[in-house]
Formats: sequence, structure tokens, C-alpha cells
Amino acid sequence: MFGKILIANRGEIALRVQRACREMGIRTVAVHSEPDRDLMHVKLADESVCIGPAPSDKSYLNIPAVIAAAEVTDAEAIHPGFGFLSENADFAERVERSGFVFIGPRPETIRLMGDKIAAKAAMRKAGVPCVPGSDGPLPEDPAEIQRLAREIGYPVILKAAGGGGGRGMRVVHTEAHLLNAVSLTSAEAARAFGNPALYMEKFLETPRHIEFQVLCDGFGHCVHLGERDCSVQRRHQKVIEEAPAPGISPKQRMTMGQAVVNACQDVGYRGVGTIEFLYDPLSETFFFIEMNTRVQVEHPVTELITGIDIVKAQIRVAAGEELWLRQEDIRWQGHALECRLNAEDPARFIPSPGLITAWHPPGGPGIRVDSHIYSGYKVPPFYDSMIGKLIAYGTDRAEALARLRSALREISIEGIQSNLPLHRRVLEDAQFAAGGVHIHYLEALLEQ
Ligand code: ADP
Repeated sequence: MFGKILIANRGEIALRVQRACREMGIRTVAVHSEPDRDLMHVKLADESVCIGPAPSDKSYLNIPAVIAAAEVTDAEAIHPGFGFLSENADFAERVERSGFVFIGPRPETIRLMGDKIAAKAAMRKAGVPCVPGSDGPLPEDPAEIQRLAREIGYPVILKAAGGGGGRGMRVVHTEAHLLNAVSLTSAEAARAFGNPALYMEKFLETPRHIEFQVLCDGFGHCVHLGERDCSVQRRHQKVIEEAPAPGISPKQRMTMGQAVVNACQDVGYRGVGTIEFLYDPLSETFFFIEMNTRVQVEHPVTELITGIDIVKAQIRVAAGEELWLRQEDIRWQGHALECRLNAEDPARFIPSPGLITAWHPPGGPGIRVDSHIYSGYKVPPFYDSMIGKLIAYGTDRAEALARLRSALREISIEGIQSNLPLHRRVLEDAQFAAGGVHIHYLEALLEQ
């Protein structure tokens, strides 16, 4: 096992990784930007290194600075968390070339899955069902693009091959708008992701977002930890997640689980990862959309219902351990839900950084709070507005919901605005309580 790990991230996930390291007796190095020296995990780390000024490209995305910090502190491995450099294949490669272990998949796997066109092709080859679409990059010829869209059937969605974080997508309802939308989206993709390539998919009107968690070692062994439902979204960004997905039968879980395990073995996957699907409840069909090659924000809901610590597992396989679990060892018990807590105006969704004057986390049976904030902590304006996660577990969905509602009454964040009112509203909504809402549910609720 590693003696020392450098955590190349900030905020909640950096603290989460640090907690896993503590439990495993691994020392930690925190790297941080200048305004981030008061982060909880920086204060608690065995060592910390300032890697640059506030802007991410000068600090958290600064590959030479991160690697230099690992060198001066003699860290053995680097945990990238999520966001920032976590899905950057060049970073993973440079980490390994510098003699450190990258806690994640092989660079070539990250590269493959980072190109959504290539990822889809790999999944199709492995027998995973995909959203009907262009099966490759869009052709140059405008007439060909129009023919393709007609064949797929409107509405279609244009997606950037290099897209991520809910960006780089555009829905097209009629042929009159198609070519203009293609040039707009392609130009945006070139600017945002450095890759103008687009592909096209059938736009599914009311699917649910259901994803499978996988865990693989470096020797071809792989298990799935079941699914999560992340359909409560705003602008393609997840807001509330849960596991298991309401209404998914054990048979569907095992069939799709086996399909994702086969796909991971096919691409030689190593580490933890998530295979995302859109699910059509009418035809009971799953369609692959993308694979995330890192730990995800919503990993705790799976941890609570499987009893498996996903971050510790990730570190163990990165250290070269052979998988200690067989598929039949994985048992799902109870239900868990997670609310993402954001420092933002709950009505207009604009970030609300600033000083937290008082913070009261909720507690009681089945409540978990993953957050780095504290009273007197100043949320900086430079980074993502997520300030933590509130997670509730119950023996069934009704109990988990009741605990989450109760926790949302107890919790208090003062000094800044947060999306707590939004969560309270969703948790009081009968449709959400019934389970199985589709991906446009939240936006429809907000319009009411
Ligand atoms: P990102 O990498 O930016 O998260 P994804 O491909 O995972 O992009 O898609 C994010 C979200 O966009 C999905 O959860 C879903 O809400 C929506 N979406 C993506 N593809 C489609 C599609 N073919 N039809 C309908 N909605 C889609």
C-alpha cells in the first residue's frame, strides 16, 4: 500500500479522499491555490503545497506544478478527484512517466472514453446498447447531415465529441434549424473543448438518467455495484441522485450490470468508473451515453446501499491489489438519496460566494454530510459552486425520503445563499416522492 498520496483537487472531494487515506494509514499531501489555504483538508493534511494563484489554469490545472509538488513531498501516488485533471489523459501519462501512480484508469482508456464518438463505438462493439445516431462524426456534406437527421428522426441532439459537464449539446427540432445549429455547436465545441467534432443522436423526450458503477482491478477482474438514478437535473447537471433506481428490477440490474462488466473487460478498464445510460421506461430499454473514468460526485449513495467504500477500493486497485470481491459478494440493501448543496441563488442559479457566518450540519440515523465548509469559511468565487452533499440512507425509499426531509429542516447555512430551498421544494413534491421522474422533471417543476 502507498505510504503517501497527493490529492490534486479541492473542496469536498479532496476531504473525502483524505478521509479514506486516514482510515488506510496513508499520509496525505494537499495542494491548493493561494486563496484556498483555509480549506478544511489543507488544514488537516500531513503536508500542503501552494501550487499557484486563484485561476484554475494556474493552479489546479497546472500539470507541472502538481507533479513538482509530488516530487518535493515524495508522494507515491496522485488522486485526481473529479473535475480538474481527473479525466485528462495527458496528465495521467505525465504522472506515470514521472514515476508516480495515477489513481485512475490507464491513460489510453481515459483518452478513449474522453472522445465520446470513440467511446460509443467501443461500447457498441462490446454489445452495449447505444442511443441511435450518427455512429461516428458528422459528415462534411450538408446534404448528408440533413439526410442523417431525417433518418434518425427529429428531434435530434448535436453533441460535441469532447464535451462534458452538460455543455456542448444542442437540440434540433426541425430541418430548417439543423445546419445553422451544426455550425454554432461546432464552433462552440472548438472553443470550449479544443475539438470541433460533433455527432448526432436521437433526442429522447422523456428518458431517465440511470448509470452503473463499476470497480475493476488491473488484472481483468471487474464487478458492478448496481445503478443510480440521476434524473433530477437542471441544464443537464445533476441535482439529486439516488440508489437503487426506482422501479428497476433485480433482473434488469443483473442484465445491464453484466453488460457493463463485459464492456469494461473489453476495453481493459482499471479502477472505478461509471457507465451512463438514458433509460426509456416505456420500452424498458437502456441507451449508453458516456463513461466517466473517475470517482463521481454521487458515489456515496452506492456506498451506503452496498457497504463498499468506493474511494478506498479505488486506492487499493491503484496500488496493484487484485479484486477481493466477486459479483455474488455484492449485496444491495436499503435506499439512499443525495442532494448536491450549492452556494447559489436558489431562484436565479447564479453563484453566491462569500463568508459562511454559521453552519449547522444535520444529523441522526442514516444521515451523512460530505462537506468541507465550516462557520467562518469563505466560499471563493473562482471555482464550482458545490459546497457539499447531504446524503440520507433508509431501509427503504420511504424512510430515506423521510430522513432527508427531516435533515433539510435541520440544516442551516448562513451568510451565503444556497440551493436548500430548491431541495426542500423537490422533497415536498408528490411526483418526486412517487419515484421514477424523467430528466426534464425539475425544469418543468421550476416553470410552475
Ligand atoms: P456530459 O458529459 O456533458 O454530462 P452526457 O452525454 O452525459 O453529457 O449527457 C448529459 C445529459 O444530457 C443527460 O443526462 C441527459 O439529460 C442529456 N442528454 C444527453 N444525450 C441525450 C439524448 N440523446 N436525448 C435526450 N437527452 C440527452
